[in-house]
Amino acid sequence: MTAAETTTTETGRDFIRDIVAADLAAKRHETVVTRFPPEPNGYLHIGHAKSIALNFGIAEEFGGRCHLRFDDTNPTKEEQEYIDAIERDVRWLGFDWGKHLYHASDYFEQLYEWAEHLIRTGKAYVDDQTPEQMRINRGTLTEPGKNSPFRDRSVEENLDLFRRMRAGEFKNGARVLRAQIDMAAGNINLRDPTLYRILNAPHPRTGTKWHIYPSYDFAHGQSDAIEGITHSICTLEFEDHRPLYDWFLENLPVPARPRQYEFARLNITYTVLSKRVLTELVRGGHVAGWDDPRMPTIAGLRRRGVPPVAIRDFVKRIGVAKANSVVDAAMFDYSVREVLNKTALRRMAVLRPLKIVIENYPEGQTEELEAANHPDNPEAGARRIKFGRELYIERDDFMENPPKKFFRLSPGAEVRLRYAYFITCREVKKDAKGEVIELRCTYDPATKGGNAPDGRKVKATMHWVSAADAISAEVRLYNPLFAKPDPSASDFAADLNPNSLELLPDAKLEPALAADNSTDPVQFERQGYFVRDRDSTPGKPVFSRTVGLRDTWAKVSGGG
Ligand code: ATP
Ligand code: MG
Repeated sequence: MTAAETTTTETGRDFIRDIVAADLAAKRHETVVTRFPPEPNGYLHIGHAKSIALNFGIAEEFGGRCHLRFDDTNPTKEEQEYIDAIERDVRWLGFDWGKHLYHASDYFEQLYEWAEHLIRTGKAYVDDQTPEQMRINRGTLTEPGKNSPFRDRSVEENLDLFRRMRAGEFKNGARVLRAQIDMAAGNINLRDPTLYRILNAPHPRTGTKWHIYPSYDFAHGQSDAIEGITHSICTLEFEDHRPLYDWFLENLPVPARPRQYEFARLNITYTVLSKRVLTELVRGGHVAGWDDPRMPTIAGLRRRGVPPVAIRDFVKRIGVAKANSVVDAAMFDYSVREVLNKTALRRMAVLRPLKIVIENYPEGQTEELEAANHPDNPEAGARRIKFGRELYIERDDFMENPPKKFFRLSPGAEVRLRYAYFITCREVKKDAKGEVIELRCTYDPATKGGNAPDGRKVKATMHWVSAADAISAEVRLYNPLFAKPDPSASDFAADLNPNSLELLPDAKLEPALAADNSTDPVQFERQGYFVRDRDSTPGKPVFSRTVGLRDTWAKVSGGG
């Protein structure tokens, strides 16, 4: 997908913002109220960031408010750890719910009363069928369902049974409360949907008070109504639930009448955005945790050094559409690079070191050279880096038998060392196995600063670090977690990329990188953007690659 294929216009308008603007202009609402309603059964991922930016963004732009509401109706899957992580991640993305933090569980009593209201008006009944019978009698897309033999119970019997369900008299799954709508409805969601199920499980907030819990459908719209949500924005898979959302609001004495609108969820190539799969990746040990930098979770992206503004730029750029599509992962990287190119300080680091000795540089001598912290921003200042007789260069920057177009170092070739001198390779040293272990070079003292007074040119400028001062570090290079552009959600393990993590145990960094404990990403010149990882120890820093330098997206999109 390219930016032009989305429905976002230059002004950042989309069909949902158009609806909100029209509703406000027609005075259908005084103010816009949206909500972001995560279920606390996992960590947030970048797909959620799209929904967060949409809901909080609309509230901000139209002077309304956005609630954070935990949709905590299933205590068997929900945990406090997830609640905390979600709050942290929404804040980190740059959004603020103010005092509007809510939980569907705050409404359990009201929802229960509304369920009794449906029973009293003949619109809900307790069903004793087994889950299997219910499944069979629900029918299929082409066949209507069959009425439950318990559908015509009296109001009194239904009330009695429902109250006893609440009191904890029955085992899990023994009965459910269902709406009485239409077992022949074309939309299967209207075939007497379940409102309450028996679940004898403690809830993170309500403890052991409840033995029954409302379904998503029964909780969601009514929670919106209680909070005075005007525009209830969700993803397309809920489109078929909208008639049910409306049915509840029409058949209950709710205090407000919210409307549901659906937009296309975010999908990204080489990425799975499903909490179920992400949970299995963590539980199965396929990754090191929810914040493994290979994960598409907000926590993973944060640990990988992705700035929140890059995530916000990305979701703005992809826009909000009504048809599902898949975004190229390169487009996300592009957004990250755009931000980091402007902000990240430049440093030199040699990832796969090869030692060189400058034979004509006096032993024991060192000197300091000045290196700019940012090429386009003089205000970022400069630092002093040490040059000496022994240096490290990148192993890939040397070839003993180079092909024609290789302009970096090879026997007899001359190159520039960034901020330093021209050097020429004079001799190659190998170990017993024939592997290159050291290069003997000479330097031209007249080229200090990187230019030759006689005007002679070199075709390559290489990064380096001084061996005497270099800091040893572990560097982690992350590649896509999945090897396929469209990984399978059911058999995801088969599609995992075996090379998603490449460990470089002994990279050599310039000392400035060890002195700085900041977790702001830096650019390792010619390599990419890297961030200090929390696994660092005083003796051994660990750096993770946020994103490489190569910009395939700019090429694809004709310059970005
Ligand atoms: P998943 O499908 O990953 O399990 P979910 O929809 O079950 O996620 P919720 O906690 O219910 O997770 O989601 C909260 C909100 O985020 C919902 O409104 C949902 O529509 C939205 N959302 C979830 N995934 C995406 C996505 N990929 N793109 C955009 N919005 C999303
Ligand atoms: Mg959901």
